[in-house]
Amino acid sequence: MYDIRSLDANEFIDHAEIMSSLEEGKKAALNRAVVESILEKAASYQGLTHREAAALLYVEDKEILERMYALARKIKEHIYGRRIVMFAPLYLSDYCVNNCRYCGFHASNRTVRRRLSQEELREEVLALEKLGHKRLLLEAGEDDKNCPIDYILECMRTIYDTKLHNGSIRRVNVDIAATTAENYRKLKEAGLGTYILFQETYHKPTYEFMHKGGPKADYEWHTEAMDRGMLHGGLDDVGIGALFGLYDWHYEVMGLLMHAEHLEAVAGVGPHTISFPRLLPAEGVDYSAYKLVNDSDFKHLIAVTRLAVPYTGMILTTRESAEFRRELLDIGMSQMSAGSCVGVGGYAHPGREVPGEAPQFRLADERKPEDVLKGLVRDGYLPSFCTACYRSGRTGDRFMPLAKSGEISNCCQPNALLTFKEYLLDYADGELKALGERMIETEVGQIARESIRVRTLDYLKRLEAGERDLRF
Ligand code: SAM
Ligand code: SF4
Repeated sequence: MYDIRSLDANEFIDHAEIMSSLEEGKKAALNRAVVESILEKAASYQGLTHREAAALLYVEDKEILERMYALARKIKEHIYGRRIVMFAPLYLSDYCVNNCRYCGFHASNRTVRRRLSQEELREEVLALEKLGHKRLLLEAGEDDKNCPIDYILECMRTIYDTKLHNGSIRRVNVDIAATTAENYRKLKEAGLGTYILFQETYHKPTYEFMHKGGPKADYEWHTEAMDRGMLHGGLDDVGIGALFGLYDWHYEVMGLLMHAEHLEAVAGVGPHTISFPRLLPAEGVDYSAYKLVNDSDFKHLIAVTRLAVPYTGMILTTRESAEFRRELLDIGMSQMSAGSCVGVGGYAHPGREVPGEAPQFRLADERKPEDVLKGLVRDGYLPSFCTACYRSGRTGDRFMPLAKSGEISNCCQPNALLTFKEYLLDYADGELKALGERMIETEVGQIARESIRVRTLDYLKRLEAGERDLRF
């Protein structure tokens, strides 16, 4: 039975509640007055319940769909401005004891595996710092023997300690398998930014079909991970996601929103981010059994999520093509990765493939980060390398009031400008410098509060004079 506050995965992600929300949603989508009232609520930045969002998932009318996209764009610009936070994934280890059918790392898929030594990791970090990255997402398969928690903690220390000229990694997010409260506490103590774990699918029978062996096959253990982390492991910043393509996308959106509502109810704060990985071809994976999501449905579900959770960061990955990423940024995404490598050791030694060792999946956007940034700036987006909130302790329930009060624009906007300026000074070529400087000049002029504008101008000068890491 549905119980938002229950700590049993089968009750806070209740199948009957999802089915009934979707059934009612189908009917509501045909009722113009109901749809209008839901859109009106979304337009006031209050967010939507999963039941309200269900109705929008079934809207087919082209004109209403276009209005939903326009509203998603407006909400995004109101809360996030034109900023896009940049990050890069870093694969530490592809050892994995699980047998997730869709993943190239699954246990029975290959014989050659490896994990980075601390020396190799340092090389990877230096290569990422040379690209200007400040925020990383660590990725690893699950294998307690070959990749225990102590190894992850050691890697985090190495990453924070590895610096090149002005380069440093200032925020380390981690995407590793569901683990114990004790391990979450250790990650937090080692300087974890956001703990990210994708549910893959909220549909339990599909989950059980997709995960044939290993600890991840335990649906409850996986689905209740954020509760363990937030209620007992000291986590205050978590990111959820569903791997679109495993099951019906309407169902997955309900799961994501119910999960977010549940975390807010029991931990006092919802997820900091939602990621939208979409299933991509991987070596040794048969796609005939999947429910792949087409572009227009994907865009539809992303817009509905933006309306439902206006203050939650939304993450787009290089799984999407450059062209399509532009469309999705427009309707709600606030973070994206650039220049990603999804194999172990690929930044320092690109192209040095170990025979038998394929990356986790094939990427759709393989542009260099600098080209991604040029594209963003040309489209009017402001790339941000900011990590200030996390480092000033503005996380979890301390971040949300900032976001909701609108103060975010007096803080995130100047910080984005400052970190982009650092990037231009330290890493950009002439073309990007020219594009970026023009953008910074325009954007500074638009900072509403005079005291902030003056201070931003002062900080920009100090960056030019060689200082780094100035922030609000
Ligand atoms: N091993 C950890 C786990 O599974 O939770 C975390 C790291 S795993 C490398 C990160 C994510 O990659 C998985 O959660 C899954 O959603 C995604 N993934 C796996 N196979 C994929 C594929 N073929 N296409 C797109 N994403 C995939
Ligand atoms: Fe292992 Fe994660 Fe891939 Fe599953 S998704 S096989 S747990 S790396």
